[in-house]
Amino acid sequence: MKTLAIDELRERVRGNVIIPEDEGYDEARRVYNGMIDRHPAVVVRAVNVGDVIAGVNFARENQLDLAVRGGGHSVPGFGTCDDGLVIDLSPMRGVRVDPATATARAEGGATWGDFNAAAYPFGLATTGGIISTTGVGGLTLGGGIGYLTRGRGLSIDNLLSVDVVTADGRFLVASEREHEDLFWALRGGGGNFGVVTSFEFRLHPVKDIYGGPMFYELTEVGNILRFYRDYIAEAPEQIGAFPAFQIAPPLPFIPEDRHGDTFIAMVACWAGPLEEGERALRPFHDVAPVVAEHVGPMPYPALNSAFDPLLPPGLQHYWKASFVTELTDEAIAAHAVHGPGVPAVNSTMHIYPINGAAHRTATDATAFAYRDANFATVIAGVWPDPGRNEANIEWVRGYYEAIAPHSEEGGYINFMAGDDQDRIRVNYRGNYARLVEVKRMYDPDNLFHLNQNIRP
Ligand SMILES: Cc1cc2nc3c(=O)[nH]c(=O)nc-3n(C[C@H](O)[C@H](O)[C@H](O)COP(=O)(O)OP(=O)(O)OC[C@H]3O[C@@H](n4cnc5c(N)ncnc54)[C@H](O)[C@@H]3O)c2cc1C
Repeated sequence: MKTLAIDELRERVRGNVIIPEDEGYDEARRVYNGMIDRHPAVVVRAVNVGDVIAGVNFARENQLDLAVRGGGHSVPGFGTCDDGLVIDLSPMRGVRVDPATATARAEGGATWGDFNAAAYPFGLATTGGIISTTGVGGLTLGGGIGYLTRGRGLSIDNLLSVDVVTADGRFLVASEREHEDLFWALRGGGGNFGVVTSFEFRLHPVKDIYGGPMFYELTEVGNILRFYRDYIAEAPEQIGAFPAFQIAPPLPFIPEDRHGDTFIAMVACWAGPLEEGERALRPFHDVAPVVAEHVGPMPYPALNSAFDPLLPPGLQHYWKASFVTELTDEAIAAHAVHGPGVPAVNSTMHIYPINGAAHRTATDATAFAYRDANFATVIAGVWPDPGRNEANIEWVRGYYEAIAPHSEEGGYINFMAGDDQDRIRVNYRGNYARLVEVKRMYDPDNLFHLNQNIRP
């Protein structure tokens, strides 16, 4: 890139503008998935909306690929690129809670850790991710699944409005009342339509929850998954829970001689009255002997960061995902074959429930198209050693292929791999045509294409 142009960009931007010659470039180009090794021409660390507008205009005017980074957790590494421009929103992570209206505004680069820390003192929360370092931005734009989904819906179901910079450099406010089509598309359509600089959410009274992980022997897999399927269909909506294949980490609540063994686990969260928590989670104790557990009352943000130590930045990630309407006995049999092969303590498979409140929004009311599915399954291959990439990607693919015949065609875009671009149309089912229409209106030249891309 020409020095002159970069100098001009620096004049337009309040935050740091980092090019390959600059100190800190290696850190600035990196994203969470250690498998991604890309070299952008320039990284704009935006500190305000003006910086975002400058970055968008500069990329468009100079025909540069444009990557937008919120929390940087995208497994395919959409938050960075080769030779293009990255708008890194991580300096923009303020969260303002208004307890009088039970709403919060999060800047585009905030993480769920930032969000929960700001809302907790007010005894308020909304549906967010289960790891504190994940970005509010990417997670919300794809839908947003977490412990509160059954009671409070997806993250997008709690979204009231957004501030967004579109491909032509305009600043728009989108909500149910203005730019409704854009607001519709942003709720599930991912990063396709612009850079969201602020998200306004509805909050709910949630402070301390009762929950945590429980570990069962692998011989119980069929029993646990069948129980989970039947129980979660009718369970009180204050319960969020998901089963997981998990290698036991060396933690004090797990007997030392079982560290490194593989278990079928259940992670549960009761977000109702604390004193009812023990009773609410009793079914999880009655179904099979619990070998180890770390269950009890804790702050909501504590559960949402409990697994952070298993997932530091820089590990290798390859994930696959699908929605599931009926978790059949055949599907459970496939899980029982492949799940126990989970290759590293960081890897897992989760089956998130998306019934309850998430079902009460119509399939065409937002871009998120699988409102009638009951579960979102993710096979999250995560490991430290790049030398294991081939073998571990094989594990993810083999597992995915085994459950695919028992799953819906589409999957949750936020859990998808980079090689899933051919599934985008089916992920959006009947909403796809309208997404293309909105894309043509707001980004006809596909400036925002480094994402699970909806082509104009
Ligand atoms: C460890 C881990 C745990 C996870 N847990 C959950 C979970 O509990 N629930 C869940 O639903 N998902 C979860 N996910 C998936 C997660 O939702 C996606 O990885 C999501 O894309 C991450 O968002 P991000 O902002 O961190 O990522 P980024 O890589 O920064 O962005 C992802 C995509 O969103 C776009 N984007 C991000 N911010 C903005 C913005 N402000 N404006 C416009 N576009 C933007 C980017 O351009 C990119 O296309 C998890 C992922 C990881 C790696």
